[in-house]
Amino acid sequence: MIEAVDLHRTYTLGDSDVGALRGVSLAVGAGDYVAVTGPSGSGKSTLMHVLGALDRPTAGIVRIAGRDVNTLNDAELAELRNATIGFVFQSFALLARTSAVDNVAMPLLYRGMRKSVRRKLAEEALGRVGLGHRLDHRPNQLSGGEQQRVAIARALVGQPTVVFADEPTGNLDTRNGDEVMKLLGELNASGVAIVLVTHEPDIAAHAARQITIRDGRIAYDSAAPGEAA
Ligand code: ADP
Ligand code: ADP
Repeated sequence: MIEAVDLHRTYTLGDSDVGALRGVSLAVGAGDYVAVTGPSGSGKSTLMHVLGALDRPTAGIVRIAGRDVNTLNDAELAELRNATIGFVFQSFALLARTSAVDNVAMPLLYRGMRKSVRRKLAEEALGRVGLGHRLDHRPNQLSGGEQQRVAIARALVGQPTVVFADEPTGNLDTRNGDEVMKLLGELNASGVAIVLVTHEPDIAAHAARQITIRDGRIAYDSAAPGEAA
């Protein structure tokens, strides 16, 4: 469903280049649950951005739902991303002046649905994460755990095939972190692939497949031939 072949991503800082990804190949299939771990600066976030079509590779191929992102212009790429991928970030990334239900409805804006339909789907998504009673609250009226659940509702409202979660528990206490991991587990059980980026082994342990990245390369992939699962 998402396939990467010999990915490179180089950032240019002044007159020096930083090779954040240096030859990464992997495939994420339907319904997979993959944890990507590795030290700070190893390239985890860059990999998530490139696989999730928020960013383009400097070299190599990314195919999302069979489409090579190199052949798509920015508008086509945004449309493909919107149709297939949901994102959850450490810092929640909610619109501060916007109600929970309107935050959740955002990914539906460009799908040609009536406002009433968007609202109904957003209400259902908030119900799924246990926030059916917080529809009209703004982010600053919600706890951190509740804000992340709003973000999960926003990630799932468009019925994505894959959700990328970058350190989704990083700003949460243990209880709220557990709740978020439970919701991601339920989402995966419903058939959605999850790619979880984390530096916490306890969090990574929720995933069926473990990938370790080091210095911009895959150092270990439990699904690779020859590796013990
Ligand atoms: P991780 O998520 O594992 O901490 P990142 O993907 O954020 O790693 O970063 C990988 C490398 O790329 C690091 O050396 C980082 O400093 C560098 N990097 C990340 N984003 C940028 C950027 N926007 N500009 C320049 N360098 C960056
Ligand atoms: P942090 O790791 O500092 O908490 P986030 O995980 O929220 O930050 O975001 C990581 C990166 O993803 C940032 O560089 C940010 O620009 C980008 N980002 C955050 N939210 C979105 C979004 N909704 N759409 C696109 N990019 C985003």
